[in-house]
Amino acid sequence: LTVLETEVPAVILLDIMMPGMDGFATCTAIKSSQEHSNIPVIMLTGMDDVDAVERAYNCGAWDFTAKPINWQILKYRVRYALRASEAFRAERRAARLSRTIDNGHSEVLTFDADTGMLRSANNSARKNLGYDLDELLGLPFFSLGHGTAGTSLALELEALRVKGQLNLTLTLLRKNGTRYPAEGIFLYSGDEKPHQVVCILQDTSERKRVEAELHRLAHYDDLTKLPNRRLLQEHVRGALARAARNGTRCAICMLDLDGFKRVNDTLGHTAGDRLLQEVAQRLTSVVRMYDCVARDNSSDEDPSVTQLARLGGDEFFLLLTDFTEDSGPARVATRLLEQVALPYEINGANLTITGSLGIAIYPTDGDTLDTLMMRADSAMYRAKQDGKNTFAYYTREASQNTLARLSLETDLRAAIEDGQLELHYQPQLSDDLQTVVGVEALVRWRHPTLGLRGPDVFIPIAEESGLIVRLGDYVLEEALRQLEEWQPKLAPGFKVSVNVSALQMRQADFLPKVSRMLERYAVPRDSLVLEITESALMSNAANRLDWFEELKGTGARIAIDDFGTGYSSLSYLTRFPIDFLKVDRSFVKDLESGAEGAAVTRAIFRMAEELSIGIVVEGVENETQLQLLRPMGSCYFQGWLFSSALPPAELMAFIEDYDPVPGTVAAAL
Ligand code: C2E
Ligand code: CA
Ligand code: CA
Repeated sequence: LTVLETEVPAVILLDIMMPGMDGFATCTAIKSSQEHSNIPVIMLTGMDDVDAVERAYNCGAWDFTAKPINWQILKYRVRYALRASEAFRAERRAARLSRTIDNGHSEVLTFDADTGMLRSANNSARKNLGYDLDELLGLPFFSLGHGTAGTSLALELEALRVKGQLNLTLTLLRKNGTRYPAEGIFLYSGDEKPHQVVCILQDTSERKRVEAELHRLAHYDDLTKLPNRRLLQEHVRGALARAARNGTRCAICMLDLDGFKRVNDTLGHTAGDRLLQEVAQRLTSVVRMYDCVARDNSSDEDPSVTQLARLGGDEFFLLLTDFTEDSGPARVATRLLEQVALPYEINGANLTITGSLGIAIYPTDGDTLDTLMMRADSAMYRAKQDGKNTFAYYTREASQNTLARLSLETDLRAAIEDGQLELHYQPQLSDDLQTVVGVEALVRWRHPTLGLRGPDVFIPIAEESGLIVRLGDYVLEEALRQLEEWQPKLAPGFKVSVNVSALQMRQADFLPKVSRMLERYAVPRDSLVLEITESALMSNAANRLDWFEELKGTGARIAIDDFGTGYSSLSYLTRFPIDFLKVDRSFVKDLESGAEGAAVTRAIFRMAEELSIGIVVEGVENETQLQLLRPMGSCYFQGWLFSSALPPAELMAFIEDYDPVPGTVAAAL
């Protein structure tokens, strides 16, 4: 028994008569251990001790032999015991195997190689197929399904006999009529009669589901459930190839929401996401209208929309096909933009947003997806420039404009570095036209090849590209430097006005910069007037009263530029520390055209007077205007009637030579 703790003997010879513990007790102990119960035990008994033989078998002995030992016979007995125990072990292994097969995950079936009739099916197979064993045994294996491509299993298995083993992908049919995909290994066994085939199947539907999910994740946008760029590419490449074969056209549309960033910034990303989902839904509904299958609302000439996708951010993509007229895509574009522009309700808040859409046509505008997308994109930018909430077709000229813009931007960047910018100064005259009370600094660009350029050409580019910040820095510093230089020659109270763009105002270091500049140059602080347009004020003011107070604290004066065009609420005027209103020149133009224009201007004068805010009237071009303005109240005048913006030297000459009562102006006095 001690030996058995470390060794597993093949056979045990056990004498009954032993000191201490006898053979029966020992045999019982051996047989009671799970591990050793299969070891054959041969017992040695006395010659005629039938009783002992009986007891030996009861204790689990396999065989006995009488003493004295006949070694010749013992040899055969041992050999027989070994063979029997081997057979016994094999049988148990087989039983264990079949139990494993029966309860295993794989579905195992066997069938007759000649007739195909099923011979066995494990639990797994029976459960998944939904048959009882009896039912299965009456069926040919080939009735349970077919090969992947719908081929008959009998055909697929034809090679099995020769090859001995085959791997197949197949579809199995359950008793209830549903199907499942599986992969199977088929083993041909010719050992038995009749020959049989063992088939081990693995249900792959779960794997297929996971694969489908992975495909969805890779090809669809999670937020809107629309196809993403990758799926779109697969689809559109096919569509373009088809159009090439059939000689038809396609339209690629890019739609970008206008000012979507503002929604994110003000309402938060959750609201932004919800808005994108809503937009996607509306686009989908329009697309459904133009679906090639169910075209209920659209006419026959209307294109079909065969692909809608989200490219990321607030950008959407559409592919239109089957149209004859160039105007077809335009009609769809209009529909799409109309839908997008309807009001939304997001988290209880109402909001509106619009889109801009660019269209490029295959093959006119390009024959690869990349080119077409690029061109639709550039058309989309033009739609934005055209005032947004609109669409534009790609045109070569427009793209040349973008190119021109691009090189202008590069040039402008260099211009700021290279000192190609300069300031011209437009005089402002006192109420009684007796004195030049100040100037507005207006920037000019002395372009090396194009000559002197006005700000209308490059200020919009500077603003879009952010260059306006550096440009503004230059203007502010140069104006103050110039003012310092002129200081000795100027009347006290002379002011220089500088235009400040909205982007500049938003820079965190704008206020300290103004302070620094005012310290650097020896000029009275209140001789600097910062002109802020009404629309910049409106977009910044709401929560920035303290900012304006601080700006005022630098000593500079504040003027509202282009007043009357930005619909500012009057309450801003009462709350904000504003020194001047610059009445937009459109009002001056209107003065001549009728009483109504005059009435508004008169109201502005009265209000400003009420609030003790000074008025500068811009764009006075003729005496009639001047005569209409004078009775309205006290103000400064600026306009071509007196002078346009002048280079520094000429401005000085203008001031020095200024004749308070020159010919034509005198008539107005
Ligand atoms: P603004 O601030 O309204 O400037 C007045 C514009 O009206 C100037 O055009 C000026 O030349 C023009 N003007 C003056 N008198 C008359 C007139 O009697 N009749 C007409 N029709 N126009 C007159 P300019 O210099 O072309 O500037 C255009 C705009 O460019 C400016 O409009 C201003 O918004 C912007 N700008 C100019 N300089 C700067 C600058 O340094 N920084 C920024 N941010 N913007 C600037
Ligand atoms: Ca101005
Ligand atoms: Ca103005």
